[in-house]
Parts: sequence; structure tokens; C-alpha cells
Amino acid sequence: MKKQFKNILYVITATVSLSLVVQPIANAESLSDLKSKQQELDQKKSKLNSNINEKSSKIKYNKSKQEKINKQIQKLDKKIIKTDEKISIVKSTIAQTTSEIEDLQTSIKDLEKKIAERDALLQERARAIQEGGGSINYVDVLFGASSFGDLIDRFSAVNTLLDADRKILQEQADDKKSLEEQQKKLEEKRKKQIENRDRLEDLKKSLDSQKSSKNKLIDALEREQSKLKSQKKSLQKEYSEAIKVSKKVQKEIQNEQARLAERARKEAAAKAKAKSKSAYVSNVGESGDIPTVSSGTWTRPTTGRVTSNFGWRDIGSGPEIDYGIDIANSVGTPIVAAADGVVFRASPLSTYGNVIMITHSIEGKTFTTVYAHLSGYKASAGQSVSKGEVIGYMGQTGRAFGSHLHFELHTTAWQGQKVGAVDPRRYISF
Ligand SMILES: [Zn+2]
Repeated sequence: MKKQFKNILYVITATVSLSLVVQPIANAESLSDLKSKQQELDQKKSKLNSNINEKSSKIKYNKSKQEKINKQIQKLDKKIIKTDEKISIVKSTIAQTTSEIEDLQTSIKDLEKKIAERDALLQERARAIQEGGGSINYVDVLFGASSFGDLIDRFSAVNTLLDADRKILQEQADDKKSLEEQQKKLEEKRKKQIENRDRLEDLKKSLDSQKSSKNKLIDALEREQSKLKSQKKSLQKEYSEAIKVSKKVQKEIQNEQARLAERARKEAAAKAKAKSKSAYVSNVGESGDIPTVSSGTWTRPTTGRVTSNFGWRDIGSGPEIDYGIDIANSVGTPIVAAADGVVFRASPLSTYGNVIMITHSIEGKTFTTVYAHLSGYKASAGQSVSKGEVIGYMGQTGRAFGSHLHFELHTTAWQGQKVGAVDPRRYISF
């Protein structure tokens, strides 16, 4: 084939491809919007989670505070019990004093009655003595004695009479004195009773205030506790809502990736049709050959020697799982899309180095292919590519010993290296 003709065809192919890749870029942006939305949600979730933890520790702290206050309450309870005891002692003192007062009142009444009766008797005696001429009567009695014996008898009788009067007078004086003492005592008891009643009143008041301060402490605690509980509850509710929204966004991301892949498949099919019209497939790489495109859905992503298979391997730092297959060739060997799809990443990523990731929609199922350690890109994010189309060039960027392609095939939308990776030989022959 003449070189000039070859170049014309190449331009035609490139033009057809270009017109098809413009549209999906907008979709890739909406995908990245969704991804940044997801990131925001993740941040919100972790913030909510730390708030929940903070509330939990506050509730815990509140519990220790509650224990302290409970000790204060117990102290108050002891005081209350003591006050109650004091009240019952004062009450029994009051009852005792009341009965003493009653006894005194009875005794005073008795004394007053006795004194009044004796007064009447003494007045009677005084009248009798006055009417009989007083002491003369006694003398008459003595002089009227008929014999010494009679005199002695009469003398002792007079004496007895005098003694009796003296005794009555003495008793009267004693009773009056005792009456006075008892009245004084009664007065004291009454005073004491007033004091007791005042004390009882004070005790009751302090009991009431002790009880009300105890209840205030309990109220405050319960209020604080229920406030914290409701705050924690609302945070948990927000958190579960955030999880729901986040799941929804994840689903949207997957749907969007699947939709883009499906669109890419259709576009690739149209492109293939246009290519078949031009009846020519470019076969010139940057250096080295583009692999022959297989029939069917999948094709080999590059040419070269398989140096490591999917599964366990040891490249010097102990056994590790290789989630892909390694194909070695010289730097610049063309790398092609393993199936129709849409590029959603064409930028460096950690140990992968320069990496291209493509989402494929095949018979309603989403697949992802990964092409790592590239020396250069020929495709960019958002671009739809068809099976066998050059997307980049082999290299040894990232964690690579020598120039090779690290190729992964996942039977899911991209969710990280470890999710959905299968042995690519299930679908592709190398
Ligand atoms: Zn590898």
C-alpha cells in the first residue's frame, strides 16, 4: 500500500473517531460531579459519626456526674432521716410535756381545793377561839382540873389542840409553797413547750427544703440526660439518612458508568461500521505492532510475553496476589482497548503509575479493564473507545520492574483493585 493513501485513510478514521468522542466528555463531568458528591457525603458521614461518639462520651460523663450527684442525694437522704428522727423525738417530748402539764394542772387544782378547804376550816377555828375568848379558854380548861392527873390530861389535850392548829397552819403554808412551785414549774413547762413547737416547725421546714433540693438535683440530672439522649438520637437519624443518600449516589455512579459504557458500545459499533466502510485498520504503533484484533467481544490488549499470571506470585517481597496479568515488551509498544467501552480514568494512580481504566457494558453487564505502568496516553477520560483501538503505550511507570503492561479485568464497575478482579484468561487468550 502506498504511504500517501495510508495517511489519507488514517485521517478519515481519526475524523470519524473525533466526532464521536465529543459528547461523552460532558457525561464524564457529571460522573466526576457524582464522585465529588460521594466524597462530600463520606466526609459528612465521618463528621456525624464523630459527633455521635462525642455525644456518647458526654452521656458517659453525665453518668459519672450522676453518680456524684447521687452521693449528694444519699447524703441528703441521711440528713432527711435524721431530721425525721429529731422530729419524732421533739414530738414525743411535746407529748410528754403535755401530760406533765396536765398532771401539774390537776395537782394545782387539788392543792388549791385543799388550801381553800383548810382556809375555811382555819377561819372556823379563828371564829371559835374569838367567840370563846381566845387562849383564855385553854387556861380555863387547865384551871378547871379536878386533880393533877386530870390536869395532865387537860394539859395534853390543850397541847394536842394547839399542835393540831399548828399542824394545820404548817400544812397550809407547805401546800401554798408547793402550789407556788408547781405554778412556776407549769410556767416553765409551757415556755419549753412553745420552744419545742418552734423547733418542730424549724425541723419540718428544713426537712422540706432538704427534700426539695434533692428533687431539684434529680430533675436537673434527668433533664440533662434526656437532652443528650435526644441529641444523640437525632444525630443517629441524620447519620442513617446520610448513609441512605450515599448509597443512592453510589447507585447513580454505577448507573452512570453503565450508561456511558453502553453509549460507548453503540458508538464503537457505529465506528466499526464506518471503519469497515473505509476497509482499513491502522496497524502502526509508536513502536512495535498493534495486536491483531480478535473476533468476538474481547481482544488481547498488547503484544509480548506473559511474565506473570493472575494469582499468587513472588517478585522478591514475599508472596502476594497479582490481580492482573503482566505482558512484557519494549517501551512504546501500543496498548489497545480490550473491548468497546468508555475511558473513565487516564492519569497516574499510586503503584499503577500511568493507568487507563475503561468501563464496558456487555450484554447488560458492567466490566472494567485496567492498563497500568504506561509510558504514554493516547486516550483521555470521557472518551469512548472501540475494541482494538490504541489507548496508550507500554512503559514501566509506578511499581514496575522493566517495561510491561499490567492488565486487570473486573466483572463489576470499578470499586478498587480487590473487587471483581478475575483471571483475564477467562475472556481473552494471550
Ligand atoms: Zn501485574
